[in-house]
Amino acid sequence: MNPEFAGSQYVIEVIYLIASALFILSLKWMSSPATARHGILAGEIGMVLAIGGTLLRHGIIDWKWIIIALVLGSGIGVPLGMVQMTAVPQRTALSHAFGALCVTLVGSAEFYLRSPDVPKFMMSVLSMEVILGGLTFTGSLMAAGKLQEVLPQRPITFKGQNLVNFLLFAAAVGSAVYLVQHPGAKELFPFVVGISLVIGVLLVIPIGGADMPTVISLLNSYAGLSAAAMGFVLNSKLLIIAGALDGSSGFILSVIMSKAMNRSFTNVLFGAFGQVQASAAAGQEAKPVRSATPEEAAAILSAANKVVVVPGYGMAVAQAQHKVRELYDVLTKKGVDVRFAIHPVAGRMPGHMNVLLAEADIPYDRLIEMDEINGDFPQTDVALIIGANDVTNPAARTDQASPIFGMPILDVDKAHTVMVIKRGMSPGFAGIDNPLYYLDRTLMLFGDAKQFVGGIVKELGGH
Ligand code: NDP
Repeated sequence: MNPEFAGSQYVIEVIYLIASALFILSLKWMSSPATARHGILAGEIGMVLAIGGTLLRHGIIDWKWIIIALVLGSGIGVPLGMVQMTAVPQRTALSHAFGALCVTLVGSAEFYLRSPDVPKFMMSVLSMEVILGGLTFTGSLMAAGKLQEVLPQRPITFKGQNLVNFLLFAAAVGSAVYLVQHPGAKELFPFVVGISLVIGVLLVIPIGGADMPTVISLLNSYAGLSAAAMGFVLNSKLLIIAGALDGSSGFILSVIMSKAMNRSFTNVLFGAFGQVQASAAAGQEAKPVRSATPEEAAAILSAANKVVVVPGYGMAVAQAQHKVRELYDVLTKKGVDVRFAIHPVAGRMPGHMNVLLAEADIPYDRLIEMDEINGDFPQTDVALIIGANDVTNPAARTDQASPIFGMPILDVDKAHTVMVIKRGMSPGFAGIDNPLYYLDRTLMLFGDAKQFVGGIVKELGGH
């Protein structure tokens, strides 16, 4: 090997090693709100190093296409990154789709460049790369479409669906096995890619919009595994490490989300779950509830010693987090102990509430996870729920017939007084009624979260 080439190869490997270490640190740091920003920065630097290292490779003959791709990619990526936070799940799905498309195209190009001389191990990982890449590409597009509501959200099911999926999957794997034995069978390769694309669609259509974020996290895992397989094909340790990290973290996240939503994980894998339930609350509005005005709510809050705020999806839609921060400030000044209870699936994506509250500069140590805060509700004077519904529904604990029975919830009903800010009596994401609203100790604060919290702040002498 010429020494200059060996030298630059060495530099590239060192750059890749640093990038890999940064990816690992990035994940580690992102697991806590206090270090999450470092985590993002480490991931970004790692990615710049990975791209830079790749550009140093000697195999590059023409920069023209690389520059065109960089400009095009940035042109699409920058506006895609600017979406509202509530649209992040579908945006993430699109990113997975692009990544998976790339993996599938690279795998296909490698196959046609190498065929018929593809060693058995290489052909095995190459097949895994295109099968996972192909199904992730179409699956992610379907998921993004359902979340953006350009495709119907309801599950589409038909008789023998799982059998059809299984047969297609078996056909793809069977063809891949044949290709491992006969890598010159070029005509079979498009068949493997084609079936994988169809499987992606079929895997996602039976899943209701409600559970799409869990599916996205699972597709994230598939995308990571396909990238790791591509790492073996291209002999890139960086891709193997980054892909494995992506694959395993996506998988763990899917399991956590399934548990927090009380879904069976096998159902996420095989579909036909998460039916978008018809509103069970219809017709129940006749039950009496007690409501209060911002003045009354302000009086109750200022008389309290301990307040726990429970944020939910409604706070995110109303963009009320800054008003909530003002409420926190004004109550803290009055000597009230204010903490925030964070349910793992409050909002529409994992960590949604943490991100919003951090954006409003609410101190991290005031954000308490569900398991830690649940024991404190009996000693809490006021539980103030802002645009959260399902994550506070006591039916999950008490009503075996409830669709959310078994889902871990925040035990707000054990607080001395419960106040709920929402616009009306409509149900939350699960589409079911919430018995919390009819308790004697519950006061409904009807209105938009931002306006209502703003009203309370005003009453308390804030802005
Ligand atoms: P929910 O969807 O249960 O309830 C949100 C409530 O906010 C609604 O009842 C709505 O009532 C109210 N709301 C809407 N807009 C406003 C507004 N502008 N001002 C005030 N209130 C408003 O949210 P939760 O956060 O409690 O629960 C999350 C749900 O989403 C769970 O069912 C969870 O399983 C599911 N989910 C979560 C995912 C995650 O990763 N976090 C992923 C996928 C699903 P009204 O219309 O009367 O105002």
